[in-house]
Amino acid sequence: MAESVHLNRRGVLFVLSSPSGAGKTTISKKMLAGDSDIALSISATTRPMRPGEQDGVDYHFVDVDTFKQMAADGEFLEWAHVFGHRYGTPRDRVEELLAAGKDVLFDIDWQGAQQLYQEAGPDVVRVFILPPTMEELERRLRARNTDSDEVIAARMARAANEISHWDGYDYVLINDDVEGCFGEVKAILRAERLKRRRQIGLIGFARDLIRSVPEADPT
Ligand code: 5GP
Repeated sequence: MAESVHLNRRGVLFVLSSPSGAGKTTISKKMLAGDSDIALSISATTRPMRPGEQDGVDYHFVDVDTFKQMAADGEFLEWAHVFGHRYGTPRDRVEELLAAGKDVLFDIDWQGAQQLYQEAGPDVVRVFILPPTMEELERRLRARNTDSDEVIAARMARAANEISHWDGYDYVLINDDVEGCFGEVKAILRAERLKRRRQIGLIGFARDLIRSVPEADPT
């Protein structure tokens, strides 16, 4: 009866947030590469495309009017202003992934995590990744070699603001070692997948287990 052990379950809406430079992108890429049961929610954004990014892969890059129309038409599960641009999670892809039996990974900020939780309640798992120190965060931002001192100072101020929302999350991790932090993220996802409330198939499975034992004589 090995096949009956593979049970249906409710999908996990797995949110990863962190200030930029804390390692969230590396960790989400590792999660997606190593686990075909979870797929990324691709957000829409009004910010300009960066070198190396691809439309439809990293984001759906849209203009402000298109974004506003999408929001008015209820196409977003959540959306927010982040760093002067609009970012939103298209509802369709998330619903399609869940219907296909996948878990969904969201790389969104604290505002998105909050709205998603209001929409989908306990199906949402919110994980926040902290840098080990602010000095280390600054060192990582400088190591990218892409930003001026002014931009780095602005990113550090934004990072402090993002971190101030750490207490709106279910799990908070410190990324002082990427492999260690990735291991913890995987452990959280595994435990969340195994939660009883997600194991819809358990209802029938447990009932069949109980029924398979002949009734004992109570005397
Ligand atoms: P970036 O422009 O560096 O790719 O992302 C900036 C910030 O916007 C990141 O903190 C990222 O998590 C957040 N973000 C990306 N997509 C969404 C979204 O759909 N909704 C919300 N609320 N935040 C998002």
